[in-house]
Amino acid sequence: MHPPVVIGHEFSGEVVETGSEVHTVNVGDRVSAESHIPCNHCQICHEGNRHVCPNTKCIGVHRDGCFAEYIAIPEEIAFVYNDPALPWEQLALMEPFGVSVHGMMDVPLATKSVVIIGVGPLGQMGILVARLAGAARIIVLEPNRERAETARALGADAVNNPTAEDPVAAVKRLTDGYGPHVVVDFSGSAAGLSAAMRYLRPEGQLTCVALPDQPISVSISDFGYRGCSIRGIAGRRIYENWEQMRGLLARGIDLSPIVSHVLPLDQFERGLDMTERGQCAKCILIP
Ligand SMILES: [Zn+2]
Ligand SMILES: [Zn+2]
Repeated sequence: MHPPVVIGHEFSGEVVETGSEVHTVNVGDRVSAESHIPCNHCQICHEGNRHVCPNTKCIGVHRDGCFAEYIAIPEEIAFVYNDPALPWEQLALMEPFGVSVHGMMDVPLATKSVVIIGVGPLGQMGILVARLAGAARIIVLEPNRERAETARALGADAVNNPTAEDPVAAVKRLTDGYGPHVVVDFSGSAAGLSAAMRYLRPEGQLTCVALPDQPISVSISDFGYRGCSIRGIAGRRIYENWEQMRGLLARGIDLSPIVSHVLPLDQFERGLDMTERGQCAKCILIP
């Protein structure tokens, strides 16, 4: 980042003004937004992979973000959602919700067993997505007792504490000894990831949403011999994941439990502090 820049990239708001060349967004529209602005001209963009465009500019990083009363955004990243049944606080969650949807729906979950490692706000959304996507069994691994409770309330079928019981044994026991079809990691935990590589079902996929801060060693011979895959998740597929979100909202996905706190913007430090300590899910700031 090159300060000074207004930070923040997850928001909702009402359009109060549009530029002369804006054609698809109108004053009065309720919007959230994609935070990545791809270049649209490079080979990666042309291949349909704008979410990993090497020339991406991000709001709140390369240009002013949303911790403010007003933000100016290009038309192409506006996500218009005019149904007032979705409260502003939940419309503000679309950007992180999109990451969760990207991770959870990378492979079809219908009739499959899925393990979710780590249930902060994105993992919590992941449980809701897995239920709507038709997963047969949702197993959560989470050491934090409060978050484990939340996971149960959101509909996880089994919640295990990987620091209390060996996760390899626990997950195998819960999947007839074969392991889960899909593991989605929201924790970035080295121990969690290496256990996942051991309990993943043959031909299964380990989907990595969180970014571990340490390199992790993998036994390719063990992992590869079972035909398993590792998949990285960057941002949201533009705009496939946004349309999937629209579909999940139409089906009635209830994101209200993810909004755990609402504070005035001038108390942003308290919100950031709670977030850092894992004491809240998503804390919404009202300018
Ligand atoms: Zn590009
Ligand atoms: Zn975000």
